[in-house]
Amino acid sequence: MKTRVIFLGAPGSGKGTQANKLAKIINVPHIDTGSMLREEIALKSAEGELAASFMNQGQLAPAWLVIKIIKNRLSRDDAKNGFILDGFPRSLEQAHMFEEILTEIGEEIQGVLNIEVDESILIDRMAFRKSCSCGEKYNTKFNAPKEENICDKCGSALTQRSDDNVETAGKRIETYKSETEPLINYFTKKNLIININGNQEIDKILSDIANELGAPALK
Ligand code: AMP
Repeated sequence: MKTRVIFLGAPGSGKGTQANKLAKIINVPHIDTGSMLREEIALKSAEGELAASFMNQGQLAPAWLVIKIIKNRLSRDDAKNGFILDGFPRSLEQAHMFEEILTEIGEEIQGVLNIEVDESILIDRMAFRKSCSCGEKYNTKFNAPKEENICDKCGSALTQRSDDNVETAGKRIETYKSETEPLINYFTKKNLIININGNQEIDKILSDIANELGAPALK
């Protein structure tokens, strides 16, 4: 089974949802650089403030900062048997820097899941995305909670990411195309790309991913 994998996909492609579910099934950490940067912002650290100035514009945070976060995270014991990288690397510069880290720690990436979704639905997915602190995610257009803005599961108020507004979402898609999409070619040349149809139902996408990685069959 492949346990050292990267998720690639446009913002709003659903890669975070899939990475989170897969990590629980194959029991490896889900390493999500976007969430880790948001944690830094919540802590009001100097690095968090620096990251926020880029994130609020739909741009990439500085590579050195993301690399530092990734290096620390991969050095933890729970990453020894594998890891799922979600949102990293996000540019050729980061991919090259990451190669050096992999050489240092003696690991290799086994697959890069490229979640393909029609561009026309990406903005709607982001602009209507809301989440709860308990981890539940909603889309107020396609999968709304029973009571407006209230989590069905725990009753808490839902929140929206500050970069999930139509304007910033559009910029994030532009950044994806210019900075991140070239990675598809880069990983194709390394024979690592696994294309996944991300336009399907969540469970069908997950079972396609599990099959491709040789993970246990899903119930
Ligand atoms: P995400 O939660 O993956 O949608 O990421 C939210 C924002 O965090 C992105 O729009 C970037 O500004 C920033 N970010 C996340 N991962 C990275 C990365 N690997 N490199 C640079 N910036 C990142």
